[in-house]
Amino acid sequence: MSLGLLLLLKFLLMETTCNFMSFIPYGRQDIDQKDIDSVIRTLKSDYLTCGPAVEEFEKSFASLVGCKYTLALNNATAALHLAVKALAKDSKKKVLTTPITFAASANSVLYNNLEVDFVDIDPDSYLMDLDLLEAKLDDFPNLYQGIIPVDFAGLPIDIERLRKIANKFNLWIVEDACHAPGGGIDTSRGYEMCGGGNFSDITTFSFHPVKHIACGEGGMLCTNNEQIYSLVKLLRSHGIERSVGGDKPLWFQEMHELGFNYRMPDILASLGNSQLDKLDKSVKRRNEIAMIYTDAFNKMEIKSQLQNSSCTNAYHLFVIEVEKRDELYNFLRSKDVGTQIHYVPVYLHPYYESLGFRRGYCPVAEAYFEKCLSLPMFPTLKDSEQRRVIELIGEFFGS
Ligand SMILES: *Cc1c(COP(=O)(O)O)cnc(C)c1O
Repeated sequence: MSLGLLLLLKFLLMETTCNFMSFIPYGRQDIDQKDIDSVIRTLKSDYLTCGPAVEEFEKSFASLVGCKYTLALNNATAALHLAVKALAKDSKKKVLTTPITFAASANSVLYNNLEVDFVDIDPDSYLMDLDLLEAKLDDFPNLYQGIIPVDFAGLPIDIERLRKIANKFNLWIVEDACHAPGGGIDTSRGYEMCGGGNFSDITTFSFHPVKHIACGEGGMLCTNNEQIYSLVKLLRSHGIERSVGGDKPLWFQEMHELGFNYRMPDILASLGNSQLDKLDKSVKRRNEIAMIYTDAFNKMEIKSQLQNSSCTNAYHLFVIEVEKRDELYNFLRSKDVGTQIHYVPVYLHPYYESLGFRRGYCPVAEAYFEKCLSLPMFPTLKDSEQRRVIELIGEFFGS
């Protein structure tokens, strides 16, 4: 054998072992040549911001989820901030959310100088417990003005039941669907996509790379209410109104609200446009992966998030609950498998403790937090990689 051939063989061998042992993260964006081409087209165009790619992204997203109005924003935190701002009518009434979410769901309330409060989760779905919510509202019917449910891990909340509760107590709903683009639920009025707007006043989505649609940064606000749409549109761009023709001069500008610069650039929206084409396929692939995990963990008697046959779960995350969670996390890490904890109950963060929240406030969420682990879940996860994750967990628990 020639030296060249030997070197080639050695190289190929190293490649395969490296591939086999390569690190598996818990989530990863899927960027292909079409995405790259789409961004390059925008870079070569006249508009890097405030241009046609943003409008196209808003239109496509609206037709995907079936709502009337959409506004692209620079991230979902901005969308939540403006959603609460647009809906909050009473500076003395609090807003309810779930403790098992990313901090931004609750922070959006604080940005608006309002008080936030938490309703514990259901121990099996990990979503806000609607029985506990109703009980809390029965006890304090005049304390709250709105509610921010979260479609945690991609599982849609029972939005029809939530709307009934909200109507009874005169509350608005901002659905934080950052985990659930492409998710949906059967209702008495037909199938409702997350963001459809027939039950929630506003729904928000995130385009952070770890979420389904990667823009780098980005968010979307969906609503069926024209007044909310107009107000958020104004707030997104400094609160400044521009000429729309008629009797106003072309240069016309007037500031009506203390707004922000929360606009999404066209560069990112063009990535969103090509990413959106893949959403359907990616949610299907996530569901395939979830089915394989579910079967494997049922056999191992490991608890995973309860599924609901009347929902399409968008599966941003696949969450299991295990004893010795930190040991398993470290074990998987040592074998090049990345996992994550979603989430530390929001009110246990030092900042929230400084607002007066204490350990023990939502016992179900705290018990869940001790055991939860999010496993690798992304559309380009290979079958062999998923098998490795399952086998390692089996090895750890000695089965
Ligand atoms: C990611 C996330 C957000 C914030 O999204 P950004 O686009 O990063 O601002 C808010 N809520 C939930 C539930 C999220 O997962």
